Amino acid sequence: MEKKVTIDIDGVAYYVPDQKNLVEAIRDLGLEIPTLCFYPHIQPPLGTCRVCMLQVNGHHVCGCESRAAEGMNIQLHTAELDDHRKAMVELTFAEGNHFCQACEKSGDCDLQGLGYQMGIGHGRFPHLFVDRLLDFRGRRLVIEPNRCILCQRCVQEIRTADDQPVFSIVGRGDHTQLQIDEALESCIPDEMALRATQICPTGAILYRGKSLSRTPGDRQYDVPTELTEQVDVIQLLKSARLDRKWRVATTSLAGCFGCHMSLLDIDTGLLDVVELIELDRSPLTDIKHISGRCDIGLVEGGCGSDENVHVLKEFREHCDVLVAVGECAIWGGLPAMRNMVPLDECLKEAYVRSGVPGLQQIPHHEDLPAMLDRVYACSEVVPIDFYIPGCPPGSPMMWQFIASILTGTSTSLIGKVFKYD
Ligand code: SF4
Ligand code: SF4
Repeated sequence: MEKKVTIDIDGVAYYVPDQKNLVEAIRDLGLEIPTLCFYPHIQPPLGTCRVCMLQVNGHHVCGCESRAAEGMNIQLHTAELDDHRKAMVELTFAEGNHFCQACEKSGDCDLQGLGYQMGIGHGRFPHLFVDRLLDFRGRRLVIEPNRCILCQRCVQEIRTADDQPVFSIVGRGDHTQLQIDEALESCIPDEMALRATQICPTGAILYRGKSLSRTPGDRQYDVPTELTEQVDVIQLLKSARLDRKWRVATTSLAGCFGCHMSLLDIDTGLLDVVELIELDRSPLTDIKHISGRCDIGLVEGGCGSDENVHVLKEFREHCDVLVAVGECAIWGGLPAMRNMVPLDECLKEAYVRSGVPGLQQIPHHEDLPAMLDRVYACSEVVPIDFYIPGCPPGSPMMWQFIASILTGTSTSLIGKVFKYD
């Protein structure tokens, strides 16, 4: 008969099978513990992502590498542990090059799912933007190393009939990378090759000619974009109405104007908003310079040129509160796809090698903004007071947040309110 032991989790006693893997034991109890590399039948567990960190008898350990034993005292959810796990996921995003909007696994990616679950709207670590080339050597499988989190699931699971690993890890530090043995890859059956794309928690393994993408709404981590608490923005603004209109300035730096389109998405609600808010400099008013002190400045896009830096500094100087709106302003977003490639190469690719008739040289004129070496997050240039995540952030969420800042009320953007893609 299965032996059971008593363990204590966050002050509550539970009865679990002796020597049961702690991640599985905790989940069997209906409690939540996040994981990325964990895959139940890989033994011994990989323990590469460190996301299931908990405290056992006062020591930090990975849940997947620990087994239940009599009298264990486990801390599962403390503020410190939750933050530690969140930091591990943030580091994983910062270490790779994750452009979810352009990724086939988006919506079905475990890393992205954890980001949503943990409410990561703004990472605290700078992105490394290491240049990693796609590996096309496999007959069927292509490796996208920018999305690989080095979990090693594929290394353990994808093997030839005589148990030789098709994948291996090479290099050190920032340059550690997954490698494919193309000769062995050609030996595995098709089901095994497809399994590689499925076992990968991210979009790092692709299959030539087959798409991993599924329709939004049918994907594993699709959640309805809903505000947890619906707030009547107009009523909120009216309740704290000043003896003047609030002044708001907006700008789009290296972005696509999607966040501005989202601002307009409140449709007829705009008619009420303009009764309470006056727009200063903004693409919506076409006013070119901030004309006075503004209560709030909304910045879409990161800084990719000297002009972007100049505008951002003007906003910081003239706005009481400065908000980075959307992924591009928060960390660079899609324009930061060029950050892995030297600027000179980017410009040559766009203008010299483009094949567009008449475009054979890189434009150069003193009136043109000078491109920076890479796209910078707004917070790398000036202090930012608040962040509104999303690509683009949803309209109701944005207005709720703006109204909350203006009226000094609290709001939460955590949960089902933003999307990375
Ligand atoms: S969906 Fe996942 S793998 Fe793809 S870019 Fe986003 S986080 Fe990376
Ligand atoms: S390719 Fe996927 S499964 Fe393999 S190590 Fe990278 S993230 Fe893990």
